[in-house]
Amino acid sequence: MFTSNHCCYLLPLLWREKGTYYALHLGGTYFRILRVLLGDQRSYLDVQDVERHPIPSHLMNSTSEVLFNFLAFSLERFIEKEENGSDSQGVRRELAFTFSFPVKHTSISSGVLIKWTKGFEISEMVGQDIAECLQGALNRRGLDMHVAALVNDTVGALSLGYYHDPDTVVAVVFGTGSNACYLERTDAIIKCQGLLTTSGSMVVNMEWGNFWSSHLPRTSYDIDLDAESSNANDMGFEKMISGMYLGDIVRRVILRMSEDSDIFGPISPVLSEPYVLRTNSVSAIHEDDTPELQEVARILKDIGVSDVPLKVRKLVVKICDVVTRRAGRLAAAGIAGILKKIGRDGSGGITSGRSRSEIQMQKRTVVAVEGGLYMNYTMFREYMEEALVEILGEEVSQYVVVKAMEDGSSIGSALLVASLQS
Ligand code: ADP
Ligand code: MG
Repeated sequence: MFTSNHCCYLLPLLWREKGTYYALHLGGTYFRILRVLLGDQRSYLDVQDVERHPIPSHLMNSTSEVLFNFLAFSLERFIEKEENGSDSQGVRRELAFTFSFPVKHTSISSGVLIKWTKGFEISEMVGQDIAECLQGALNRRGLDMHVAALVNDTVGALSLGYYHDPDTVVAVVFGTGSNACYLERTDAIIKCQGLLTTSGSMVVNMEWGNFWSSHLPRTSYDIDLDAESSNANDMGFEKMISGMYLGDIVRRVILRMSEDSDIFGPISPVLSEPYVLRTNSVSAIHEDDTPELQEVARILKDIGVSDVPLKVRKLVVKICDVVTRRAGRLAAAGIAGILKKIGRDGSGGITSGRSRSEIQMQKRTVVAVEGGLYMNYTMFREYMEEALVEILGEEVSQYVVVKAMEDGSSIGSALLVASLQS
């Protein structure tokens, strides 16, 4: 069903070494640094410190050196704060680099950038080894830190989900962008046939943001948004379902309506600015429960649309609802597609070679989900979960558990590093 860039990982998470591990996560809007402590007992996992900062926008189209120097500097500050004056000379720190852009892996700790997405545009980095860039910047700052793993964010989320609950076989991120990965039988991966793993399974990073099909109906708003984006003809699915874009779809609908009618008053020049309406504002509009829709009025004023009557404010809420409902339902269709592929949708799956008993017995299936859109936009989450039940049916849905994993991608990546130490 989906296009894939075929990144496959082993998941040896049941073995992990106690100690302190670090993760640096470069998302589309934020970067996060965290430290986790693993104890002797398998269940002991303590997330000790988490920092989350917006990525300064000028870095998104700067140079490789500027970006990685900034990340290394941020890590240095994080460590200085942690040490608080104590001398930890000679302590080498193991770091997971959680990177939420498409990468062609060359090993667990190296991989080259295939392309940028989500508005990043540092062209010299395409084809470069991302982990090496970070390691180089850490070395230049004299930080004794080792980039032990380069991990896609979905794989990090799956790792944490799997660590807590081995029925976790799918992980999906709905943040600035969107992506999914799932656990697949090695012999069902054509590219990996003959490759043996101890568990018999591998994680497939789908890069589903780039899924496309002629059956996926696109509106003129989707077409225009894509054409005017920095990655035209790319990431079509992501552009319909993720946080970076939902606000801009809504903005385009309001702009068209204000051009075609006078319900919004004079055309606001601000409304013509791409991405001026953020998805955070879409959820604030959608969830405005004041009787006069004052929050809607305030947000519209910020984009140059003032003094519109309540009836028009209600229309704006409706636009947000339609755009978000579509996104939630498409997201659910994506998850259902994965469950179908691995035989967890009650049908037995697309992949041949499953035994009859495997097909007939519906297993408990956990889908780990993370990302700011899912975590913070209640209506998106509800539409997605409602549609998933609708597609799977009540009976199969009882076996499918959708679990939110806050910071799952970073914590899970640190766990992967721990599993590499033993
Ligand atoms: P990243 O994509 O950088 O890893 P997140 O997973 O936290 O970061 O996702 C951030 C994105 O989530 C924001 O850019 C925004 O699109 C979306 N988001 C965050 N909060 C909200 C909210 N309250 N309502 C709607 N969307 C939100
Ligand atoms: Mg993210």
